Amino acid sequence: MPGTDGRADAAPWIVLALLLAALAVAVVLTTPWDALQGAPVQPAEPDRDFAPAEQAESDAYQSAIRPPVYLGLAVGLAVPLVLGFTPLGAGLVTAAARPLGGGWVWQVLVGGLAVLSAVRLATLAFSAWAESVRRDYGLSTRSWGGWAADLAKGFGLQVAGTLLAVLLLVALARVLPRWWWVAGAVAAAALVVALSFVYPLVVEPVFNRFSPLGDGELRTSLLQMAEDDGVPVEDVLVADASRRTSTLNAYVSGFGATRRIVVYDTLLDQAPAEQVRTVVAHELGHAAEHDVRNGTLLGALLAAAGVCALGGLLGWSWLHARAGVDGAHDPRVLVAVLAIVGLLGFLTAPMQGLVSRRIETRADVHSLDLTGDPTTFTEMQRSLALASHSDLDPPMLTYVLFASHPTAPERIALARSWADVNDAPEPPDLAPVGESGR
Ligand SMILES: [Zn+2]
Repeated sequence: MPGTDGRADAAPWIVLALLLAALAVAVVLTTPWDALQGAPVQPAEPDRDFAPAEQAESDAYQSAIRPPVYLGLAVGLAVPLVLGFTPLGAGLVTAAARPLGGGWVWQVLVGGLAVLSAVRLATLAFSAWAESVRRDYGLSTRSWGGWAADLAKGFGLQVAGTLLAVLLLVALARVLPRWWWVAGAVAAAALVVALSFVYPLVVEPVFNRFSPLGDGELRTSLLQMAEDDGVPVEDVLVADASRRTSTLNAYVSGFGATRRIVVYDTLLDQAPAEQVRTVVAHELGHAAEHDVRNGTLLGALLAAAGVCALGGLLGWSWLHARAGVDGAHDPRVLVAVLAIVGLLGFLTAPMQGLVSRRIETRADVHSLDLTGDPTTFTEMQRSLALASHSDLDPPMLTYVLFASHPTAPERIALARSWADVNDAPEPPDLAPVGESGR
């Protein structure tokens, strides 16, 4: 086959290097490294705002949830690697597609379903274990039937998205044996942008129902705050999160015409109105800075770089021998593709987390600037952390690998620092009286 004569092609690696350089420049220039404009930020001090019993409850939950979550992640990464870098995966694809006959499209569809099912089955026990921990601690409010339905829906979306992407990749490799990765990189970037745009319309409704926040004082005050902020918001939507979880949350998704601010019904039910205002002010910060759109563009660059890496790796005859495939045009290559994509996602997670935490800090400062109320902000952070049994002082490795947000004590310390800079009264210690310190 052209392009698979065993010689490694340098072109994908050169384009990969250029894309990574562009990505690095974009990340360095657009990430808000210093949200408080040079002012010193106090250290996180969990003891000031969380009683020993509250910290112990959070520690107990975190110790219980880490094993199933991390083991599930490790198995979910290891199974595709073992299948993808040995002939086992190619054999599984061939065996799954054989009874039904057919060409390469069929092999991608049936073989892909078989491989994704194998990974899902291998991690199923860990998912169930994690759910039982959430139930034990009162964080999950859904039935086991509801859990299974959510799992099935998530798996269905994963299968549809993955098979579509792999089908496109193999088709391009068959039409453009030498340059498929160029077209693939462009397609992957476009797909990331399109998916992020339609996500609120296509994916979120699969899991939740959304309704406009009902008329009343809160709605009026939130829309007024958005107007004062100069952020056009047509509506604040409420998600029926309570049928799944007792945690409190809010988020912004989509961009342009699909942008929406969503608050959990649990937040409205349990947090006082002024705390809801500080949460929505944080989300307005994301909207004002176009964080979803900008994050999507960085994600598109990253996806294009990932396809270039695939272009380089899949032109490597050593890998063909390991994976038992002839090249990117071979439908059985899908297993190696899944393994490489999983590995790249894991390797880039620390960078994604670092950027995310800085962007979250900027949104926190936006909330503080907009409400001018650091005390309510700290009370809100305490409410959210207690409701989720958040990790108040995570191990360094956990934090670097997985944390998308600063910890609650870090966010509270930010609010105290903001109060110092802005000559506002410093929020008092929030640990219940008589129990603070340990
Ligand atoms: Zn946020």
